[in-house]
Amino acid sequence: MEMDVKWKTENILTQAISFRASDIHIVPMEKSGVIRFRVDGNLVEIEKFPLTLINKLINHLKFISGMDVGERRRPQNSSLTVPLLDKSYAIRLSTFPSSFNETLVIRLFPHENHLSLPQLSLFPYQATKLINMIHAPYGLYVICGPTGSGKTTTLYSLLHTSFNVMKRNIITLEDPVEQRCDQFLQMEINERAGITYSSGLRSLLRHDPDIIMIGEIRDSETAKMAVRAALTGHLVLTTLHSKNSVSALKRLHELGVKKTDLLDVIGGVVSQRLVNMLCPYCGASCVPYCKKQRKRRRGAVYEILTGTPLQEAIGLIDSWNSMTSVVSINKVICKGIALGFIHESEYNRIGKGV
Ligand SMILES: [Zn+2]
Repeated sequence: MEMDVKWKTENILTQAISFRASDIHIVPMEKSGVIRFRVDGNLVEIEKFPLTLINKLINHLKFISGMDVGERRRPQNSSLTVPLLDKSYAIRLSTFPSSFNETLVIRLFPHENHLSLPQLSLFPYQATKLINMIHAPYGLYVICGPTGSGKTTTLYSLLHTSFNVMKRNIITLEDPVEQRCDQFLQMEINERAGITYSSGLRSLLRHDPDIIMIGEIRDSETAKMAVRAALTGHLVLTTLHSKNSVSALKRLHELGVKKTDLLDVIGGVVSQRLVNMLCPYCGASCVPYCKKQRKRRRGAVYEILTGTPLQEAIGLIDSWNSMTSVVSINKVICKGIALGFIHESEYNRIGKGV
């Protein structure tokens, strides 16, 4: 029986990886339980199990990840590296007390070899524009969008391009390091050990980087240091949590970056979203088993603010009406729909929040 549970756990994890799921939900119900995967943003039911097996799976996962197995009333979190299919996968587990015993959710971190920008971008011309953008010798480049919009993936792709094409020295500062990479020096934020974004950035600057990647700008101190690093001749790439490129500029201004500094230092602001691409086999509502066969299911669409429209947007940062002539994400999505790459419903899912 022990063996059964261990085997079943591995089987579920392997299956989730083959679906390229982002999360696994193990949910007990009144008499049975279900396994659900989150695939491309949607929750899909994969398998039903008897309640006893569901509880055994949850206990097993709690045990191997070092949680308190006897504790069922308080939520717990843990993480674990599991070897599967000749690779190791980082997973994060969390339990949540529910009305029928506790639910367990596993977050899987994407482990596919990094995607090149042309593979990632729905439109090749947008990939080209982004790559040209980071040929600049210095400046601050910001990628924004909500959680799950693929900002980090774009950032890594840009770094790989800079390394492979331009042979630049790259140092990253991340919380946490999402993808290990031999080509960059990666520093992880560890507040307990005193490594914060600002202290990390200070020590990183002594290591003579050409390109600095800051995982995310969250506070005024980091924002100001990022600007200073860019002003002193570094190319700084970072992400910001904001809905579009103009609001990212406003956010930096709110964090205390002066308008004159913004004008001097910002080379580009990019807002992005991930769209589900139409299935070439079954059309709009692709069934999970079909999805599994498809290599490319999502594409990134970008709003790229550079050059004169960027300078104009910074000039209008204090006014209510900050119109720019940037091509919005909505327009890019419409183009994708018109060309038959994406379904109309993606406009409502994504376009409304842009
Ligand atoms: Zn399909």
